[in-house]
Amino acid sequence: MTDLPPVLPPLRDVIARHGLQASKALGQNFLFDGQLLARIAAVPGDLADAEVLEVGPGPGGLTRALLAAGARVTAIERDRRCIPALAELGDAYPDRLRVIEGDALAIDAPTLLQGAPHIVSNLPYNVGTALTVGWLSAEWRPWWRSCTLMFQREVADRIVAAPGTGAYGRLAVLAQWRSTARIAMPVHRSAFTPPPKVMSAVVHLVPTEAPAGVRLATLERLTAAAFGQRRKMLRQSLKGVTGADAAMDAVGIDPTRRAETVSVDEFVALARVLDG
Ligand code: SAM
Repeated sequence: MTDLPPVLPPLRDVIARHGLQASKALGQNFLFDGQLLARIAAVPGDLADAEVLEVGPGPGGLTRALLAAGARVTAIERDRRCIPALAELGDAYPDRLRVIEGDALAIDAPTLLQGAPHIVSNLPYNVGTALTVGWLSAEWRPWWRSCTLMFQREVADRIVAAPGTGAYGRLAVLAQWRSTARIAMPVHRSAFTPPPKVMSAVVHLVPTEAPAGVRLATLERLTAAAFGQRRKMLRQSLKGVTGADAAMDAVGIDPTRRAETVSVDEFVALARVLDG
């Protein structure tokens, strides 16, 4: 026999009772639609007894969906006002929710969790981007199993962008050299309270084997130079990168091409020659 899910008060009541008016400074745009939240929680796949790290649970809408999906959640929330509301949720799901008050940018998340967690988060986009870049830049294989992250649509498009598109740049190369990145679902601005100015999308990242023999620092130096002058030919934009001409020659990349046309694999191949 399976346990019935706990009956929880409506999120809007929780917000009113705990005085959780959305704070602009903390980038708070809350989600209330239970069906949408359940769809987001389903993006990582089956969460029964899975470890999940949630960053920025706020009043706990997404946390509810994760717990209902059977996850064990560790949540990091910066806004002290939300902690009592989250504690109530923890009471409804004994031993399944651990809440840590603090700034996720300053917390060493891997030390909090045993085993590789799924990361699921609806964060302010600047915090989300900084964390994601950190998670993708750390030692590989990573300590996390997958990332399901809300971004403003424009940032989501830059993460999953293919070569030859205007959105393709450093973020796409960084995300895609070590993970498979896709947009799991668009999210309309009206789904949030208060609604942000722009549309959002949930991005799903699954780590892959990192290409061998390449240092992230080299790849970053290359992409910074190449996309720093994205309209220029590579022979011009890569002038400041020692060995770039010989590397393009070795890999068979025409130096009259522009950064936008260079695939992730080609950037990796260039970096490998530079590192060789
Ligand atoms: N997850 C909730 C939802 O979907 O309704 C809230 C989302 S709201 C966009 C972002 C949440 O992240 C807020 O609760 C905010 O306080 C929290 N937050 C912002 N910056 C943070 C940081 N650096 N570390 C941890 N939490 C943060």
